[in-house]
Amino acid sequence: MERFDAIVVGAGAAGMFCAAQAGQAGAKVLLLDNGKKPGRKILMSGGGRCNFTNLYVEPAAYLSENPHFCKSALARYTQWDFIALVDKYRIAWHEKTLGQLFCDDSAEQIVALLVDECAKGGVVTRLRTEIISVERNDEGYVLQLNGETVAAKKLVIASGGLSMPGLGASPFGYKVAEQFGLKVLPTRAGLVPFTLHKPLLEQLQALSGVSVPAVIAADDGTVFRENLLFTHRGLSGPAVLQISSYWQPGEFVSINLLPECDLAAFLDEQRAAHPNQSLKNTLAMQLPKRLVECLQLLGQIPDVQLKQLNAKDQQQLVATLTEWRVQPNGTEGYRTAEVTLGGVDTRELSSRTMEARSVPGLFFIGEVMDVTGWLGGYNFQWAWSSAWACAQALAEAPTP
Ligand SMILES: Cc1cc2nc3c(=O)[nH]c(=O)nc-3n(C[C@H](O)[C@H](O)[C@H](O)COP(=O)(O)OP(=O)(O)OC[C@H]3O[C@@H](n4cnc5c(N)ncnc54)[C@H](O)[C@@H]3O)c2cc1C
Repeated sequence: MERFDAIVVGAGAAGMFCAAQAGQAGAKVLLLDNGKKPGRKILMSGGGRCNFTNLYVEPAAYLSENPHFCKSALARYTQWDFIALVDKYRIAWHEKTLGQLFCDDSAEQIVALLVDECAKGGVVTRLRTEIISVERNDEGYVLQLNGETVAAKKLVIASGGLSMPGLGASPFGYKVAEQFGLKVLPTRAGLVPFTLHKPLLEQLQALSGVSVPAVIAADDGTVFRENLLFTHRGLSGPAVLQISSYWQPGEFVSINLLPECDLAAFLDEQRAAHPNQSLKNTLAMQLPKRLVECLQLLGQIPDVQLKQLNAKDQQQLVATLTEWRVQPNGTEGYRTAEVTLGGVDTRELSSRTMEARSVPGLFFIGEVMDVTGWLGGYNFQWAWSSAWACAQALAEAPTP
């Protein structure tokens, strides 16, 4: 039976980075994954350019039942640390919007960086590997794999969440947590498009592909100002993905389709200057024409000239366009979700090392735990930061 200081399950963002750091600090590390290649989600991320971190990372950008948990790791390994590593590898990057940093060329560069860091740490990587069982004994952990048995003093679970099952996602991490008596909080899809009830979907289907800047609010008061995209299934775009993480089934979201315009003042001004101008053409100065036409067909925008629009109707129109209340039917689910909310309860873990308080030598890092970031590089930063914190603990007592 081959023995290691640490076995890391999951060659995704968190697992590769943790294995590399621990290996470079002297630990003998085995990295396991069920997939054909490492970092599959990284390759898909950011439209193939990997939004690897965000300039404005702060704990408030993370959802968790234990909101203080992420603070320590994010402060100890920051976005600046990862940017320095990216720079060391001469990977060119740019800020797209809202502090989101992307590779100029390809997400493959981030995977190549991680593979190289693992090689520098002497990490042994085994892909296409199924873990049949995990047992704990006095010396640590014994894993039965397809074909062999391996053992280590420490076991790191970096198997991610449930989103995108086609990319190898599995509930493995939750099962291991439960096997060792740790609490797992209910999971649900996050950063995911909304689906709509059939009548509204049919009404809005003509808008598929239209994108508008919007302010979107959840019932709990959380607000995002980003683009909203109408799709053939419902609503998407960054504004919707962001708010989906704060939305609960049955709730409404409130949408301002004209966040950059004081609509009442604009209509008053236009009425004074062009009283015979149609309301439709006036609104098309602020909104995409297809959206205005669709809303008119739906009876939301009266077919009148500006001089015919009375104060009550104007008030109603302003409310329709700036406080549009939509009740999503649901979300597209794990199939298209970027992340999984919930997971291993962080109250069971040390925020300094990511080790389970009641199970010495068992660690959880990355998305498998109940820490979920906003859209925009925050989730990869959590993977890097939690992995780094864990790696320091793994390196504390490597085999002499
Ligand atoms: C399409 C898409 C785009 C995204 N874009 C971005 C982005 O641009 N920026 C950002 O910050 N975040 C992005 N995310 C989120 C980000 O990818 C994840 O938060 C991050 O990858 C989590 O890292 P992780 O290492 O915890 O899990 P993962 O990267 O999911 O890695 C988990 C690994 O564990 C392996 N595994 C699972 N179960 C088993 C098992 N039973 N046995 C062995 N191995 C197993 C999987 O094969 C996988 O390799 C995106 C997500 C998706 C789906």
